[in-house]
Amino acid sequence: MTALHVSELSVELGGKPIVKSVSLAVEPGEWCTIIGPNGAGKSTMLNAIAGLLPSAGGISYRGRPFANISRRQRAREVAVVAQNPTVPPGMSVFDYVLLGRNPHVPPLGRESANDLEVAWDVCKRLSLVEFARRDLETLSGGERQRAFLARALTQLSGTEYGLLLLDEPTSALDIGHQQEVLDLVDDLRCDADLTVITSMHELSVAGEYADRLLLLVDGERVAYGPPSEVLTQELISRHYKARVNVVETPDGPVVVPVRRWRSGSRGDVD
Ligand code: ADP
Ligand code: MG
Repeated sequence: MTALHVSELSVELGGKPIVKSVSLAVEPGEWCTIIGPNGAGKSTMLNAIAGLLPSAGGISYRGRPFANISRRQRAREVAVVAQNPTVPPGMSVFDYVLLGRNPHVPPLGRESANDLEVAWDVCKRLSLVEFARRDLETLSGGERQRAFLARALTQLSGTEYGLLLLDEPTSALDIGHQQEVLDLVDDLRCDADLTVITSMHELSVAGEYADRLLLLVDGERVAYGPPSEVLTQELISRHYKARVNVVETPDGPVVVPVRRWRSGSRGDVD
């Protein structure tokens, strides 16, 4: 059964259409990455799938329309990490990770021993034990990103093929930490049976990790398929208005930006 089925999703913000009738199907355990120029509607689309924005069209998860699932139930199955999540001041990393259990705690109740155990296990899995008592605000970018992921995983723990939505999870990280976070997401996808949807700007990296790419331009689905079909010179240069070469490698297509040469400068052939 398809994990996530999005059918003709449209979102308006401030009276303006931002996402325009976009459809996609993501299989359980797949990783789908939304790419597209700034302002294309990537964050809007992720937020609409997460139920944080009103939308038109259909979103169903594991065969059930989201409209028929309570917000609480949806939060047990779908977790979203915003591009720059709000960091509550003065909160320890462990307490932050534990917030992920909120949809599992009965109204007016407290976290159970099991909730604490889940949060602790996730901290161990994400190498956050040494930071557990530290103030979240004092963590570096890479450490913080692990804490954001930990909170989302704690939220999804116990759900088969939970849906993890990550909005530009690596945009604040250097190349090494980018790789660390994406490898971690990939491991979790396999070990914890997650279906993953991310947005990302680094096109070659997006293609390396994702099973499928959605190219969104001005709110419209321009291409959806495996990286080799979406990361083409024609599509990328046209829709990003960029000069690029696409080099095929054993690890997939690599998109290389090509600089402009001015008359008289190095490489000029006139
Ligand atoms: P992306 O994540 O692809 O960069 P966004 O989804 O953040 O794009 O934004 C898509 C478009 O929606 C942008 O043009 C942005 O200015 C616009 N937008 C975002 N939020 C609002 C809002 N609250 N009201 C009106 N327009 C908005
Ligand atoms: Mg965005």
